[in-house]
Amino acid sequence: MAEYKRPKNEEEFNSNFKLKKPLMNDTQAHYESSRCLFCYDAPCVNKCPADIDIPLFIKQIHTNNVEGAAKTIYDSNWLGNACGIVCPTGVLCEGACVYNEQDVLPLQIGRLQNYATRNVIDSKKNLYKPGAENGKKIAIIGAGPAGIACACELRILGYTVDVYEAKDKPSGLMVYGIAPYKITNEEVLDETNYLQNQLGYNIIYNTAISTKEQLEDLEKRYKAIFLGVGIGLTAHRGLPGEDKSGVIGAVEFIEKLRMNHSNTKVGDKVIVLGGGNTAMDAASEAARMGAANVLLAYRGPKERMKAYRFEYELAINAGVDSVFNASPEEIIGENTVEAVKFKNENGEDLIIECDMVIKATGQEKQGAFCSLIDKLDVDPDTKIVVNPENNQTTNQKYFAGGDVINGGAEVVNAAFDGKLAANGIHQWLNQ
Ligand code: SF4
Repeated sequence: MAEYKRPKNEEEFNSNFKLKKPLMNDTQAHYESSRCLFCYDAPCVNKCPADIDIPLFIKQIHTNNVEGAAKTIYDSNWLGNACGIVCPTGVLCEGACVYNEQDVLPLQIGRLQNYATRNVIDSKKNLYKPGAENGKKIAIIGAGPAGIACACELRILGYTVDVYEAKDKPSGLMVYGIAPYKITNEEVLDETNYLQNQLGYNIIYNTAISTKEQLEDLEKRYKAIFLGVGIGLTAHRGLPGEDKSGVIGAVEFIEKLRMNHSNTKVGDKVIVLGGGNTAMDAASEAARMGAANVLLAYRGPKERMKAYRFEYELAINAGVDSVFNASPEEIIGENTVEAVKFKNENGEDLIIECDMVIKATGQEKQGAFCSLIDKLDVDPDTKIVVNPENNQTTNQKYFAGGDVINGGAEVVNAAFDGKLAANGIHQWLNQ
């Protein structure tokens, strides 16, 4: 089990947050690609949400056609590099690789994907150019993975694209919300800059679209609007004491860490509430920031946790302890958090001291935003309802994708949604 010292500078921070999947060198990529059996009806492809032709790009790497490999990847997934790094490959393509059946390590598909795409990003090799201008303008709200993928695909189809982004950087949660040992800001921004430079969509930063007047203005000026607004900040749980100093939402904590690195304040005794992947990320990060004790507290049994098993193990290996069947009742303390009171499965009270609480117990939904748009149906969980064939919403002018329709899934799902919606917009405007 790892023990981390508090990082005092960038070098120490980088050492504590060493990347989980480092870039392969040429020899490693050549050797690894030689292991592929180029299976017929390849199970790895069937498990890829973006339907990338995996055996083809692996063969291209092996025959020294690395640019061709990158093109194969980007033809299916505009966030090919980021997905190669952050996709939970163990439960997707690599988990399905036939080698697993023989107790042999599966192909490292994610790292090969990263190798090919990083190569063209570094060499600034343009693989695409925008389609002939068709004179039609599309607005995209949110420059996260769904919005960026939609923008790229629309540019190929000849549309003028304006992306409205509330923050000052693109990529949404890829920059602000993924653990820093999975991907760096530089890695994310290099890919989005690479795409924007060759496809030429506009991003209007620091411009939140949050009023009915703004939406009506967009409706007048654009032929269609794509909603890639994600989900919101950590939801208020209504726990007594939740507003005490030292209590923070997991999304806000991860964002602070991504932006401030070693200057982020982390307590000595940290309790993380939740059992999803965000809880695992936050717990791992608190441990890597040198907290003496990090306790992951989940209200149900271990088997019911939503987190991937490997994410839980990653947290445990970073030094995190866990307690199950502990339902939080109250956050105790004067003005600052001093402990959390839980009830266990027998109804007994359990008080655990701490000086920081990270809540990873769900995020705000976009219900208020959705209610600004006429005839836009949302389901009981406030996810926008779309036609799965083209991601068109019940208000025909609007299409949507990513977390706002699935409640929070992987980057690859958002990238797929953006591409699907762009083609849906194209068909709708040309019928
Ligand atoms: Fe290659 Fe494994 Fe995919 Fe077969 S399942 S094509 S061996 S990566």
